[in-house]
Amino acid sequence: MLFGALEAGGTKMVLAIGNENGEILEQRSIPTETPEITIPQIIEYFKGKGIQALGIGSFGPIDLDRTSSTYGYITSTPKLAWANYDFVGNIQKELQIPIGFDTDVNASALGEATWGSMKGLNSGIYITIGTGVGVGVYQNGSLLHGMLHPEGGHILLNKHPEDTFGSVCPYHSHCLEGLASGPSIEKRWGRKAIELKDQHEVWELEAYYIAQGLVNYILTLSPHKIVLGGGVMHQEQLFPLIRKKVLELLNGYVRTAQIEDIDNYIVPASLKDDQGIMGCIQLAKLELEHIA
Ligand code: ADP
Ligand code: ZN
Repeated sequence: MLFGALEAGGTKMVLAIGNENGEILEQRSIPTETPEITIPQIIEYFKGKGIQALGIGSFGPIDLDRTSSTYGYITSTPKLAWANYDFVGNIQKELQIPIGFDTDVNASALGEATWGSMKGLNSGIYITIGTGVGVGVYQNGSLLHGMLHPEGGHILLNKHPEDTFGSVCPYHSHCLEGLASGPSIEKRWGRKAIELKDQHEVWELEAYYIAQGLVNYILTLSPHKIVLGGGVMHQEQLFPLIRKKVLELLNGYVRTAQIEDIDNYIVPASLKDDQGIMGCIQLAKLELEHIA
């Protein structure tokens, strides 16, 4: 059975055709322009491919409340051409197939839960540290939405006493995204994150902030696994620093087999950066089952 997958990002759209085993049969990317330009390209790509359903993992905020009159919309995004845009409705009108819809990070969490390192677990979280910071939450075998959907990138942290840098978040002076996203690293240190590999203090400070975030997620969500992805997490030296700081901050309070085995608890994304698009395939599959 064939499924369509669309990973909708602020700068590019990844489009793919996959099967029920999460195998990607073909894939391409197009730049994210205005809906008037980009949506017809998306429809053109998926039309005539024989897909049974489409899964979309989208940048947001998005409306995931199925009882809402604006379900399937991108809502208050700063990307103004897409604000209050009926994303699902405009695609469904043309393709006339079931469309599963969730946040980009929830899609990645679902990809990891279905085919990756969260497979078989009852709960887990997927965190991306890239242009932004986002948290997808898999809980009791499904994706957590709540009132809106988790916005875990914007949790508030303690500033490092020696960190004089502000924040790149227009809303918060000391949130995780504002202090630890790729653009914040670049702005604080004056060079691209990838060029700072050998600067130990960069990654110490980065781990200081990411670890605070993780401790808050551990304490509130109690995930069985934490998967860290996104461009910044390609700096693998971060992992041991983060694990050490998480243990220091927990200070022995949470004692589980998972925390004892922290190297297998806080782990890199396991699907070669395909976790998002594979999660979209699973979103499509689940939507088809939901409707059937
Ligand atoms: P996006 O979040 O836009 O989907 P990415 O997850 O690739 O895309 O994140 C892009 C951010 O990650 C940029 O700020 C970039 O500087 C940073 N980044 C990308 N690759 C690396 C790398 N290998 N090491 C450190 N930072 C990186
Ligand atoms: Zn913020």
